[in-house]
Amino acid sequence: MIVPQKKLSQAIKQSNQITLMLDQVLGSDRFDRGPVDIANLALEFSSHTAPESPIREVLELDIPGCMGALVYGESKPRQWTIVSHTGQSDGRKAYTLGHEFGHYVLHRKLIDEDESFDGGIWCDESSVLRREGVDIEQEADEFAANLLMPLHDFRRQISAKTVPSFDDLSTIAKRYGVSLTAATLRWLEYTETRALLVVSNEGYAHWAKTSKAALKTGHFIKTRNTMYELPASASAVTQDFRQETADGISQPAGVWFDEPVVEMCITSKRYEQEMTLLHLPRKEPVHHADEIEEDAFDKLSEPFRR
Ligand SMILES: [Zn+2]
Repeated sequence: MIVPQKKLSQAIKQSNQITLMLDQVLGSDRFDRGPVDIANLALEFSSHTAPESPIREVLELDIPGCMGALVYGESKPRQWTIVSHTGQSDGRKAYTLGHEFGHYVLHRKLIDEDESFDGGIWCDESSVLRREGVDIEQEADEFAANLLMPLHDFRRQISAKTVPSFDDLSTIAKRYGVSLTAATLRWLEYTETRALLVVSNEGYAHWAKTSKAALKTGHFIKTRNTMYELPASASAVTQDFRQETADGISQPAGVWFDEPVVEMCITSKRYEQEMTLLHLPRKEPVHHADEIEEDAFDKLSEPFRR
């Protein structure tokens, strides 16, 4: 299902407003001091903006098969609780809370009125972690990413033309208190470089995400309804997890794509998976013949202009 653009921009609009408020209250350099405290923000924001129907609690509970939930009690007007599944790393938990807070801000009326929601909304891993959810799941993700990692701050840390390493992205992940995966996905949304993230296990891609620039030149990996086998010489397959590999090794054309790539690979023992970041060479803008002539003319005439 394609989300209507209007609804998506509502998620961005609402999270931008909260971002602006936080910038004003805490200062635009607030991320130098720490990430967004989503649990406190959710409690305070809801008690100020919807005192009759606020978020009462933020809890950690064992909810198998889910990353998080936004639930309500019997009484009306509804009193809400945000739940995160136990055992998530701090970074994943922050994102889950942001996602559920997004459901509260954007969808609580819908969740309350639509009977297909049984006491609340329950969100699984593909919705929260991989940002693969549809419709309201996608909106909650958009909200969480925008609130936890505002682009105006992110771009100041890593410009749209920079090719970051995993170390650079880890530093950013710490700044925003999110997982390395969440930070990398956010960077892929605005980078002008051609790059892909591939998350794999035992030689097969679980899922992959592509930057717009790489998509434009036809460089992407399909993982939905298909098994993508990683190239035999990929570091994730050869289990080569040295620092050198994390920093980036060259893979010639024909290994991943029709072009050479810089491949960066790390492993996560906790989640038993590998993360591979592929950087494709920079594409120079295509000049038209007359522009090239003009350039050449400029160069030739340059000495005479001084
Ligand atoms: Zn959700």
